[in-house]
Amino acid sequence: MYQPNALRAEDFIDHGEIMDTLAYAEKHKADLSLLSEILAKAAHRKGLDHREAAVLLLCEDLQVNEQINQLAHQIKLDFYGNRIVIFAPLYLSNYCINGCTYCPYHAKNKHIPRKKLTQEELIREVTALQDQGHKRLAIEAGEDLIHNPISYILECIDTIYHIHHKNGAIRRVNVNIAATTEEEYHMLKEAGIGTYILFQETYHKESYEKLHPTGPKHDYAYHTEAMDRAMAGGIDDVGLGVLFGLENYPYELVGLLMHAEHLEAVHGVGPHTISIPRIKRADDIDPEDFDNGIDDDVFAKICAIIRIAVPYTGMIISTRESKSVRERLLPLGISQISGGSRTSVGGYDTPEPEVESSAQFDVSDQRSLDEVVRWLMELGHIPSFCTACYRAGRTGDRFMAFCKSGQIQNFCHPNALITLQEYLEDYAAPETKRIGQALIQQQIQDIPNENTRAKTKQFLRDITAGARDFRF
Ligand code: SAM
Repeated sequence: MYQPNALRAEDFIDHGEIMDTLAYAEKHKADLSLLSEILAKAAHRKGLDHREAAVLLLCEDLQVNEQINQLAHQIKLDFYGNRIVIFAPLYLSNYCINGCTYCPYHAKNKHIPRKKLTQEELIREVTALQDQGHKRLAIEAGEDLIHNPISYILECIDTIYHIHHKNGAIRRVNVNIAATTEEEYHMLKEAGIGTYILFQETYHKESYEKLHPTGPKHDYAYHTEAMDRAMAGGIDDVGLGVLFGLENYPYELVGLLMHAEHLEAVHGVGPHTISIPRIKRADDIDPEDFDNGIDDDVFAKICAIIRIAVPYTGMIISTRESKSVRERLLPLGISQISGGSRTSVGGYDTPEPEVESSAQFDVSDQRSLDEVVRWLMELGHIPSFCTACYRAGRTGDRFMAFCKSGQIQNFCHPNALITLQEYLEDYAAPETKRIGQALIQQQIQDIPNENTRAKTKQFLRDITAGARDFRF
């Protein structure tokens, strides 16, 4: 019997339950009365369980699919407004002892240049990122106890938080490193990280083991139970993700939502974010070698369903996706995107010629951060460099309670405007600045609380006069 609060990976990601769910969804995918019941539940912002989401996923009715999109868009606006949080990945090291068959960092790849940033190189990378305008990073590293032990990761986090170039500062470091022990998660928590991100890659145990034939990552249970250890270690915010293309997508979506249900059942708080990467071409990796690739239509549908199934969970799309795909997905519920990204070790300070690249995968959206910021604003979104919640202790269940109380518009909205103003003052091209300032003037009216509105106006004046780092 499937129990979301079970503690063993194979019990909370119960293969039998996933197969039953998919059979149930197949049987009911054209049942219009059930579909409208599910949509009505989603419209009440109650989220959906994995079975309900699976029925929507398999449904081919055009009208229902249109309703899913509209609902996803409306829920995105209700919970996240028109804000899009901006971050950049920072690759610390591509040494790796795992054998992931889709990743060019796999241990058997002897020709990719292996690199690990020294602290001096890290300072140059972070300075280059600050000079673009970034305030929030996701650090990435391969798994290698000799080259990238936890002491190295902690040293890097400490270095990053201490770099202040001109008006620059990295105010939130999210961490995407391999599954580790509760003790090491506790160390990351103590180092002041934001979200701990770990992609499951695939929830299908048998495929997982084939796709990770060697190295510590081969252990499905250890990987799948990592978020429980992270939370036991004190990390409040965890980010899930599936690498779409490895296994069939209905299986993955159901597994992903079951994982979210498990975290909620055991820890009282679901995932802070969900990422939806798709496999990309990379050094010795050809996405065509994987049979489960999904097209843009399916990808958009997955995005919309995640949005309505877990309304309080942020959703991330990286520069793996092109400008046009990102443009299509943004209104369907994305709340965070990366911009101006490099996926090579040292790539911000010294962009590499492609032939010698140490990059993890090809970046489809190669625009600069400034171009991304401007594009977002032209589409009516507010690019946000805000990092306030976790610095104010609004993490985990406190963040969720805050979200549910509807206070976001009095906190996140002004914080987005203030941090955008900092960006415009310090880093924007003249045209970006012009568009941004007009947008801020217009958006300031949407702050519901009068005092907060007045205070925001004061902060904006202070920023123009040279002060920095205000937040609600
Ligand atoms: N080594 C860590 C781990 O095992 O989780 C860090 C993760 S890695 C630096 C970040 C993510 O990139 C992986 O979890 C994987 O999903 C994704 N990735 C790897 N190869 C990829 C490829 N060819 N295309 C797109 N994403 C890829």
